[in-house]
Amino acid sequence: MLISVLVVLVGLAFGSFLNVCISRLPGHDSIIRPRSRCPHCQRLIPPLENIPVLSWLLLRGRCRGCHQPISWRYPAVEITTALLFLLCQLTFGITRVGIFAMILCFLLLGLAATDAETLTLPNALTYPGIAIGLVYTASIPRAMISFRIADVASSIFSAIGFALLILAIRWIYLKVRHVEGLGIGDAKLMAMIAVWMGPLLTAEVFFIGVFAAAIYGILLLITGQNRGMQTQLPLGSFLCGAALFVLFQGQGILKWYLQFFH
Ligand SMILES: [Zn+2]
Repeated sequence: MLISVLVVLVGLAFGSFLNVCISRLPGHDSIIRPRSRCPHCQRLIPPLENIPVLSWLLLRGRCRGCHQPISWRYPAVEITTALLFLLCQLTFGITRVGIFAMILCFLLLGLAATDAETLTLPNALTYPGIAIGLVYTASIPRAMISFRIADVASSIFSAIGFALLILAIRWIYLKVRHVEGLGIGDAKLMAMIAVWMGPLLTAEVFFIGVFAAAIYGILLLITGQNRGMQTQLPLGSFLCGAALFVLFQGQGILKWYLQFFH
C-alpha cells in the first residue's frame, strides 16, 4: 500500500516533467532550461504554483498573474502518468519488467499528447524509446547469450518491418490521394513499439490503433466537424493508446485470438 502511494507520487512528478517535454519538444526547445513561464504573460512560475494537479486546482486552472486559463492538459497528463505507473506496479510489481513498463508508458503518453496537440511525434522521444527498448530486450533473462542476441535481432527486424509497412502505406496514400495521410514520425513510432513488444503484439497495436482512428474519423464526418476530409487525424495518438492497451491486455487478446487456430 505504502509502495503504491510512493509510485503515485513519483508518477505525478514524472507527469509534471512530461508536460514540459510535451510543451517544448515540438519546438526543439531545451527541456532543462529556462524555468517554466506562463505562455501568456511570461511570468516565472514559482515552485509553489508548480505542484502537480494541486496547484492547478487551487489556481482554478488560471495563471495567478494574468488570469489566462492554463490548459487542462497539465493536470490530465500528471494524473494519467500517475495512474499508468500505478497500473504498472500492480500488474508487474517493482521488478525489471515493471520499471521498464513505466518508462514505456511515460514515452507513449508523451507521444500521444504531443501528436494530439501538434500533429508531431518528436525524435527526442522516439529515438531514445527505440534505444531503451533494445536495452529492455537485451535484459530479458536467458540461459545462453545466443538467445539474448536472437531476442535483440528479432526486435530490430520487427522494428524495420513495421516501419517499412507504415512507409509503404504512406507511399500508396500519397500516390492515390496526393496528401500526406501518415508521417515519417508514425513509422518511427511503430518501430519503437515493435522493439518493445515484438511482432505479434505490435500487429495487435497496429490493428486496434488504425481501427480506433477510423472510427474517430467517421464520427467526425457524421457530426460534421470534418472540413472536407482534409482534417488530419493524430494517428500516432491512437497507436500510442492502442500500445498502452496492449501492454496491459494484449497477451490475453492474443491468446483468445490464437485459440481459433488450434
Ligand atoms: Zn500569465
